[in-house]
Amino acid sequence: MRKTCKSIRNCPEEKELFLNKNGYEIFDCTTCGHRFHGINDSEIHLEKVYSDSYFFEGKSGYPNYLDEKEILIKHGSRYAKLMSEYIDKPGKVLDVGSAAGFILKGFENEGWACYGVEPNKTMAEYGKDEFGFDIQVGDLESYETNQKFDLITLIEVIGHFNDLDIAIQKAHSFLRPNGIILVESWNRESLIVKLIGKHWHAYCPPSVIHWFSDKTISELFDFYGFDRLNKGFPLKRIKVNHGISLVDSNTPNFFFKKRIINFLSRSFGKLKLIYPPIDVKWYVFQKRN
Ligand SMILES: [Zn+2]
Repeated sequence: MRKTCKSIRNCPEEKELFLNKNGYEIFDCTTCGHRFHGINDSEIHLEKVYSDSYFFEGKSGYPNYLDEKEILIKHGSRYAKLMSEYIDKPGKVLDVGSAAGFILKGFENEGWACYGVEPNKTMAEYGKDEFGFDIQVGDLESYETNQKFDLITLIEVIGHFNDLDIAIQKAHSFLRPNGIILVESWNRESLIVKLIGKHWHAYCPPSVIHWFSDKTISELFDFYGFDRLNKGFPLKRIKVNHGISLVDSNTPNFFFKKRIINFLSRSFGKLKLIYPPIDVKWYVFQKRN
């Protein structure tokens, strides 16, 4: 049985077109409310979307991911501290889509033993060389291990899964009893998204292919044997350059756009912003016994 009505390929449910973005169709399932882009070839998806250009050339990814090191390590530490409310003492964490291991480094600083899985080889190698973490190249859907984890983190990753159902079942199987999943995800029901609608920058298929609300994400995890313990807004900082890059790739061309973007990037790119707590949320789910 699958929760997302196999929305990726052969959804038996009624679905309606929500939006056509850059030639990609985004659908809403009229039965369960799941919003998704149905991709056809998982291999192409992973290799195309998470090539080195995703981490280094802007667009829907990062202008230069390695510049975000310090910010992401702190982001990891904050989440590790949050987890101490739900887990007695630091144990083993698996970070899915761990990239270069920066979030994991934050967890390690708080006493966690760190494991990762990451489709981009350059990123995975960096994390292995720089921090000595056990990072497998690949995706969660194909990850294999004999470990049992106390915590699995899905930070800005659940919207990318090729096979959402397999991914969550796998995560469930890798967790010890009462283990925790921490999810950070876009929230399509936030006020800002209601205001800007179809121009929301997270509507960027084929990079992001699932868009959740509190309701749809909670029902998904409930279906696979998890209770939702809590939710909230992350205190998240991003480099101004990352924000400028998102604006650049999500706005139509206007007069002097290139020059203005370059000027902003040169002048303010290295500054840090607090990402406003509006369209990103975290969720803590616990595996039921
Ligand atoms: Zn459905």
